[in-house]
Amino acid sequence: MFKKLRFKLAMHNGVILILFMLLFLTVIYLFMSKSLFMRVDRTLQNTAYWVEDLKQLPPQRFNRRDEETDKSLFKVKGIDRDRTPFEINVILRDDKLNITATNVDDKEILLKMRKYARAAVGGESPSITNLEIPEGKVRVLSEFLNSKGQAGVVQVFVSIDREIAFLSGLITVLVGLGIFSIIILVTISWVLAGKALIPIKTSWQQQKDFIADASHELRTPLTVMQTSLEIVLGNREQTIGENYKWLQNIETETKLMSQLTNDLLLLAKVDAQQIQIEKKFVDLSEIIQKVIGEFEQLFQNKNIAMIKKVQNNVSLLGDEFGLKRLIYILIDNAIKYTPPLGQVSLQLEADSGNVYITVTDTGIGISEQDKEHIFERFYRVDKARSRETSSGTGLGLSIANWIVSEHNGKIKVNSEMGKGSCFTVILPDNGSN
Ligand code: ADP
Repeated sequence: MFKKLRFKLAMHNGVILILFMLLFLTVIYLFMSKSLFMRVDRTLQNTAYWVEDLKQLPPQRFNRRDEETDKSLFKVKGIDRDRTPFEINVILRDDKLNITATNVDDKEILLKMRKYARAAVGGESPSITNLEIPEGKVRVLSEFLNSKGQAGVVQVFVSIDREIAFLSGLITVLVGLGIFSIIILVTISWVLAGKALIPIKTSWQQQKDFIADASHELRTPLTVMQTSLEIVLGNREQTIGENYKWLQNIETETKLMSQLTNDLLLLAKVDAQQIQIEKKFVDLSEIIQKVIGEFEQLFQNKNIAMIKKVQNNVSLLGDEFGLKRLIYILIDNAIKYTPPLGQVSLQLEADSGNVYITVTDTGIGISEQDKEHIFERFYRVDKARSRETSSGTGLGLSIANWIVSEHNGKIKVNSEMGKGSCFTVILPDNGSN
């Protein structure tokens, strides 16, 4: 799928770049050809300018060695100084198109030029055309002259073989340059498309893993529920009391599924950036007391001692629901992973600028290797045991981590296998204490 996408992206970028390059090369060619022919046209126009008498050829004494004559001869600037006088051909005709003076002796050429002379008769401005003659290509200016009682046509033409040769050389260079640039541009587009796809690939893989993990997590409670239901349905004659164990199983799994779907929904919203944390000044001491209150019964049931050291009136700029959830996850985990007769302590303190929440337990502990992964989604140290003892989903700490980062804080863990764990959350209080 990504290969196809990369190919499409590279093609798309490549075509745009190639079009730009072709446009650029075309502009270069057109510019060069225009400026070359402008030089030729100036030569033709300047020569025609000097025709005063239709019986007399214009003075053609200019050449590079005779700068003085050259300057006095041409009033219009920009004459093509490289062209020698012998290359400029002039035909002067009367109003009946009979030749009155010329420096051209080739009859065939004179005949060919007559057609253009006829077209120029009566015209206001000179016409300029390219023409093919046996000697090569020429550019012809034909101008109707009507002054000092004389009417006729002035024709001036020069060979443009040199210009054509230069332009065809230019085309070869530009085509070569074009092919070389296309190879380079296609390679660059391919590399860039590959780079552009890296973040998309990563998020696609994450999404894929997320869906796979979520469906796996949902399948387990569903299987337990289905099996329990089948057993209950198979014991029609038995009372509810007799099937209590199976019904309790169903209840536990329903709770787990509901928590799991809530967590999944939350994470999906986080990924889609649909969740906005609403921050206001909240009393963290009060929030912690409330959450501890909710766990009191559980502490008693599991025979775990609860030690709290909560500084009063610690407030911060944060989201009340999120902070409650964070503390809930940390205490819940501490109870889940601490055996009976153990101890969980919760501490809240503030110094200038920061708030510290510490949840310490005397539970099973987390290995160095697992510490690096416990904040990842669906990561559970011992999947089988975690489900058995705790109805864990592996999403708690990743949600806790998200809440902490939304508050611009940090969460870290210290733990020793078999001795216990200590989770510390540091949150900036944003000047509220
Ligand atoms: P779960 O729902 O499985 O508890 P969490 O994301 O909250 O998911 O935790 C991830 C894993 O980190 C847990 O499965 C557990 O193995 C480990 N863990 C978390 N807190 C503790 C703790 N206090 N003591 C020991 N292990 C812990």
